[in-house]
Amino acid sequence: MTATPKTALTIAGSDSGGGAGVQADLRTFFACGVHGMTALTAVTVQNSLGVRDFGEIPVHLVTDQIRAVAEDMGVDAAKTGMLATAEIITAVARTLDEVHIGRDADVPFVVDPVAASMHGDPLLREEALEAIRTELFPRATLVTPNLDEVRLLTGVEVTDVESQRDAATALLELGPRWVLVKGGHMYDNPECVDLLSDGAQVVELTGPRHDVEHTHGGGDTLASAITASLAKGLGVPDAVSQGKRFIERAVAEAYPLGKGIGPVSPFW
Ligand code: PLP
Repeated sequence: MTATPKTALTIAGSDSGGGAGVQADLRTFFACGVHGMTALTAVTVQNSLGVRDFGEIPVHLVTDQIRAVAEDMGVDAAKTGMLATAEIITAVARTLDEVHIGRDADVPFVVDPVAASMHGDPLLREEALEAIRTELFPRATLVTPNLDEVRLLTGVEVTDVESQRDAATALLELGPRWVLVKGGHMYDNPECVDLLSDGAQVVELTGPRHDVEHTHGGGDTLASAITASLAKGLGVPDAVSQGKRFIERAVAEAYPLGKGIGPVSPFW
C-alpha cells in the first residue's frame, strides 16, 4: 500500500476538448503528485476552435460535490475556475465556509477568475463579476487574474509594470491575501513578468516569453500547479514560483491538436 497523497479540489467547468477546465486541472494535479478531486460547475461544448455553448450544473449538485469530498477525503487545497453564474459563486462561497476552506481557515484557496476563453467566448454570465469580487475575493488565499480579467474586475488597464502594480493594489482592496497579476498577455514586453503581492511584499517573477501558438488551458494549468504546491504545504511565494516553473515547461511542450489552438502539455 502507498501512503495517502495530499489532495486538491478543483471547482470548475468541463472542456470537452480536454485542453482546459477540470481536465487540465486533473492532469496537472496528477503531474504534480497530488490526488485531484472535482466539483463540476458547468459543461462546455468546446473544441480547439472555441466554445460553442455551455450549461450550468444545478447549484445543489455543485455544493454537494464539495461537501462530499470535504467530509470524507479531506481537502488540502482548493481552487476555482469557470463558475458560470452569480448563483453558483454565492453558493460555492457559503459552502467553502461550511467546510472550512479559505484564507481564514487552514486550507489554502486559489481563485482563478475565469471570465472568457482565449477566443473571447464568455464563460461567465455578466452579472457574476460582482459576485466574484464580493463573495470569492475576500475568501481567497491567492487570486490569479490575467490582464483582461484585471480590467473587468478593477477597471485598471495594465500596459507596463507600473500599471501592473496599480492593478495589484486595486485587487488587494477586494480582500484576497495575495494577488498574482499575470503579465503573459503584455505582448510588447519581451519577457513574461508576473507580479505577486500581499501588500507588504512585491515579487516580480520574470520568465522567457515563448512565442507559441498553442496555449489553451494555460491559465488553468498555472493555477492548478500552484494549488498542488499549496496542498503539499508550500507557502504562497514558493508555490507560485513552482507553478511558474511548471507552466513554462507546459507552454514549451504545448502541441497542435485540431484546427485551432492546441493545449499546453504536462507530458515531459
Ligand atoms: N473552458 C473551460 C471549462 C475553462 O475553465 C477555461 C479556462 O479557464 C477555458 C475553456 C478557456 O481556456 P483558454 O482561455 O486557455 O482557452
